[in-house]
Amino acid sequence: MDNGFKNIVDELKNTQSITKEQFVYILERGDKDDLEYLYAAAREVSEKVFHKEVYLRGLIEFSNYCKNDCYYCGIRCSNRKADRYRLTEEEILSCCDIGEKIGFKTFVLQSGEDPYFTDDRICDIVRAIKKAHPDCAVTLSIGEKTKESYKKYYDAGADRYLLRHETANEEHYSKLHPESMSGAYRKQCLFDLKEIGFQVGCGIMVGTPHQTVDNIYEDIVFMQELQPHMIGIGPFIPHQDTPFKDEPEGSVDRTLRLLAILRLLFPKVLLPATTALGTADALGREKGILAGANVMMPNLSPSNVRDKYLLYDGKICTGEEAAECNACLRGRVSRIGFTVADSRGDHPDFV
Ligand code: SAM
Repeated sequence: MDNGFKNIVDELKNTQSITKEQFVYILERGDKDDLEYLYAAAREVSEKVFHKEVYLRGLIEFSNYCKNDCYYCGIRCSNRKADRYRLTEEEILSCCDIGEKIGFKTFVLQSGEDPYFTDDRICDIVRAIKKAHPDCAVTLSIGEKTKESYKKYYDAGADRYLLRHETANEEHYSKLHPESMSGAYRKQCLFDLKEIGFQVGCGIMVGTPHQTVDNIYEDIVFMQELQPHMIGIGPFIPHQDTPFKDEPEGSVDRTLRLLAILRLLFPKVLLPATTALGTADALGREKGILAGANVMMPNLSPSNVRDKYLLYDGKICTGEEAAECNACLRGRVSRIGFTVADSRGDHPDFV
């Protein structure tokens, strides 16, 4: 066992801070035993806060129309091959009804940036869900808006907002997005959301083209400034109809190390073991929980649209019904010795 590696893990756990040199060491060095030491430390911290409970969020992908053209994403507006769809308010509500019956207490409404869904439409949907399911939380993940729009969603009853910052480094951001998009604005959105009162999630893809270890350290520094309530990370996976189609997939090993580091840096943060992690590795989500993650997001979208919300190739669970996804994930959670929580699963500071 490498004492240098172990000492950094101990220090990280005790101080909730990490220097760039220590970060590079943990990300790039260490053998199997060292990694197990890292993951055990992350699990210990996670267990202290979350008591071996995993929070399930029912994910409703309600539109794959998008006005943006992010180079990595399968639903970018330039992808003419994407088969576009929108769910109606009734369809979204029916997903929530099914979701509550199978035990979900959070609904995550995700979409591309679809101008059809005006603020009024989003607020109507949020209000209708909260009326029908007052004990459930609503998370929105619908992209960059103005602060005024975010405030309207909050006033309509939305509880949480996910907006991955994608990369904190402007130069790297410009290699992943067209000129019309700005990393600075995306970061500003996150600060606005926090100020309004949302539980806020940022995050990155691991292994996007041109990403350096220095970039990831900058992401950590940004997260330390933002102090998000949720952090969504998963490997980048290429999509065949995007400019990044021939780029290599992000590393599962690096994603797991990063999950553990994030758990040690942010003990109370809500940290999903993502679908992308489960796509890159059949046991990726279990490995994620065992590296300190505490959230899973089973798909609640109607099965006839699931194979259309394709951000990347090979996405898992596209042929399943909500109940199957739910049963499958509950099985995965219990097989690794964890339980599924009954609560809404808010960030500990919001309970
Ligand atoms: N439009 C909203 C937004 O921009 O936040 C939500 C939908 S967006 C498709 C959700 C997330 O999917 C992005 O933040 C990105 O990190 C992730 N994503 C997109 N393409 C991906 C890919 N090829 N591999 C892995 N994750 C991807």
